[in-house]
Amino acid sequence: MKTMRETVDVLVAGGGTAGHIAALQAAREGARTAIIEAGTMLGGTMTAGGVYMPNHFFSKTGPVVQGIAWELYCKSKAVEGLPIPDWTRRRPQETPGYYSYINVPIYAAVAEEEAVQAGITLHYHEFISAVASAGNCWEVTSLGRGIRRITTAREIIDCTGDSDVVRALGLEVMYDQVRQPGTLQYKIEGIAHEEIWEQEVQTLYEEALAAGVIARGDFAYPNILPFKYYLDHGGHNATHVYNADTSDSDGQTAANIEGRARMLRMFKFVKNRVPGCERAVLKTMYPFALARETYRTLGEYVVTKDDFLQAREFEDKVCNAFNYVDMHSQQEGCELYFHEDENLVPKIPFRALIPKGSSRLTVAGRIVSAERFALAGIRAQCTCMAMGQAVGAAAALAIKRGVPSREIDSKDIVALTLAHGAAPV
Ligand SMILES: Cc1cc2nc3c(=O)[nH]c(=O)nc-3n(C[C@H](O)[C@H](O)[C@H](O)COP(=O)(O)OP(=O)(O)OC[C@H]3O[C@@H](n4cnc5c(N)ncnc54)[C@H](O)[C@@H]3O)c2cc1C
Repeated sequence: MKTMRETVDVLVAGGGTAGHIAALQAAREGARTAIIEAGTMLGGTMTAGGVYMPNHFFSKTGPVVQGIAWELYCKSKAVEGLPIPDWTRRRPQETPGYYSYINVPIYAAVAEEEAVQAGITLHYHEFISAVASAGNCWEVTSLGRGIRRITTAREIIDCTGDSDVVRALGLEVMYDQVRQPGTLQYKIEGIAHEEIWEQEVQTLYEEALAAGVIARGDFAYPNILPFKYYLDHGGHNATHVYNADTSDSDGQTAANIEGRARMLRMFKFVKNRVPGCERAVLKTMYPFALARETYRTLGEYVVTKDDFLQAREFEDKVCNAFNYVDMHSQQEGCELYFHEDENLVPKIPFRALIPKGSSRLTVAGRIVSAERFALAGIRAQCTCMAMGQAVGAAAALAIKRGVPSREIDSKDIVALTLAHGAAPV
């Protein structure tokens, strides 16, 4: 195994939803930036995981997340040759927000092109395995195929989705024994939707469930939606993998096996027993099951349920977090909680992105320091990307000024992200 050495200003751990935006922001402000990504492309859950629905760039009242996230979305839509939906019209009755869809291969390639243009060094197929403090720097060991890399970095941004860097340093994390279910994304095509009769398929679903042909969780939302919804979406984003914990390879393996067993069971049921599905084809399966939550970072501030629901103003706010609370569970399926006033836009304070007692280290994405209930609203992709842009800005300013990122004033972070197109906070 070769040992490689590299020195950068900013190391982004995980090039997923939050991480690719964090790295772009840091690099575009002149920081020598590298991404170490365990997977094979940028975007994480939103691309490789098949959750190609970034919510929400707009609230009812206007833009809430723009900046680099919106720029990449618009650039990938341009490659697709598709118009950008009008935000004033794209608002469903049942939930507030603006629903967007990306084309996975195009978005991942566009994001990568931008990363290369910004001078970001990309290391795919590498896992961060150890992190140590070395004076005013970090020494990060990552393992890839045939490679052991030691990266010296002045700032680290942990965007691993599981607080891998925070845990490697022995800093505090939050972990609940009961967690939201995960999902394996797949898509059944070839359903003759015009032949689907809502009440008939509902009865067939309930009978199959009672007979043990399919299992609870194979359809995720029986408490809020009819089974026809599963067929309308070809099963995409409509199943649960109970208690998925993908933070280590044993948990990932177990979640993959459970997810694929559920997929196979549902496909057989749909294809063999549901009128209108005789020509159904299992067309797409994303390679790994996803978790909605595992280890969250304990930060200098923990965003509470009330902070989120009342959209508390923070002195050190750095980005918006507009969403309803989307809480999945094994018992209920899915429960949605809305703000009493749809115009409220929750905020993320910089302190929730700084691991408690740490320096030269920030986090972004679903590992934000937040109570579980609040996280079920904050974890939406646009908010993850906005957090990424904020900590990328903090790291770049820290490098320029020769101070740790935690000493950067949140107002300077906001000013820099605004200069890079972000929505006002
Ligand atoms: C099933 C499901 C459905 C969802 N539906 C929606 C939706 O419709 N709309 C919406 O907006 N949001 C949705 N969400 C929420 C949202 O997708 C996630 O909360 C968000 O993408 C998480 O972003 P992240 O950057 O924290 O993590 P990720 O995007 O998962 O990125 C983490 C990255 O880190 C890498 N990594 C992990 N460990 C290491 C390591 N040790 N070394 C190197 N790299 C590492 C991973 O490979 C990955 O690329 C959904 C989530 C799930 C699971």
